[in-house]
Amino acid sequence: MEKTRIEWAESTWNPVTGCYHECKYCYARRMAARFGDFLRIDGSDIKTVKGRNGELCVEVAYKTANPYPEKFTPTLHKQRLRDYEKKRGRNIFVCSMADLFGDWVPDAWIDAVFEECERAPQHNYLFLTKNPDRYISLDMNGRLLHGGNMWYGLTVSDKKQAEAAMITADMTEEAGAFLSIEPILEDVLTDDLKTIIANFVDWVIIGAETGNRKGKVIPERKWIENIVELCREWEKPVFMKDSLSEVWGEQLIREWPEELRPGSRR
Ligand code: SF4
Repeated sequence: MEKTRIEWAESTWNPVTGCYHECKYCYARRMAARFGDFLRIDGSDIKTVKGRNGELCVEVAYKTANPYPEKFTPTLHKQRLRDYEKKRGRNIFVCSMADLFGDWVPDAWIDAVFEECERAPQHNYLFLTKNPDRYISLDMNGRLLHGGNMWYGLTVSDKKQAEAAMITADMTEEAGAFLSIEPILEDVLTDDLKTIIANFVDWVIIGAETGNRKGKVIPERKWIENIVELCREWEKPVFMKDSLSEVWGEQLIREWPEELRPGSRR
């Protein structure tokens, strides 16, 4: 169970960690490399399983203080699944250190997370993916959990992802939808993204790249202004992360959809 430094949620919950996407700016991978360790303490508590496309995935059932006992290999932490069951209601960012909807993630892991969401309906659950196709395929198979407290988000950093994101369209009926433009790596407002903001999402989060990577992208203020302008036009709340402070140069815009205002689930 974790308090979070992520400004737009009240807690993070990481029953799954690790990811096979290869985003060069990945904060989670950096943390896993720095603090993770392979803990082969008891073979009976660790099981390797095949991902959906045959990739290596791991299930662990032991308790450890190490948040990445299998480094960045996709890992289901069974002992974390019930972390929030008896906690007061809040906005929870689910799997901040993974992509729960990556192609490799076994359906059973997603089912297990959704089961816990159903068991603890006092919370809002916010998911993010770079692979919105998986939302669609789960939905088509009747496995995507719908409900007013389920918020499905997509992450876009560049124009190519903005085009791919279009396919999520209206799959979030009866659930919330949001867009995280983070880290913003270029002026991302393609026609597709404009359509998404206008028609399909209830909230837009914007953030800049963090860390000191060689080639790190410092966004232009104009890119941000364009997004804010579009959100104003369509009356979509905007949330700017701390990472935009220098670029924005004035008070950051911090808005939430009504249902996600901090404290709204208490
Ligand atoms: S999708 Fe997220 S967790 Fe996965 S590599 Fe990219 S930034 Fe890291």
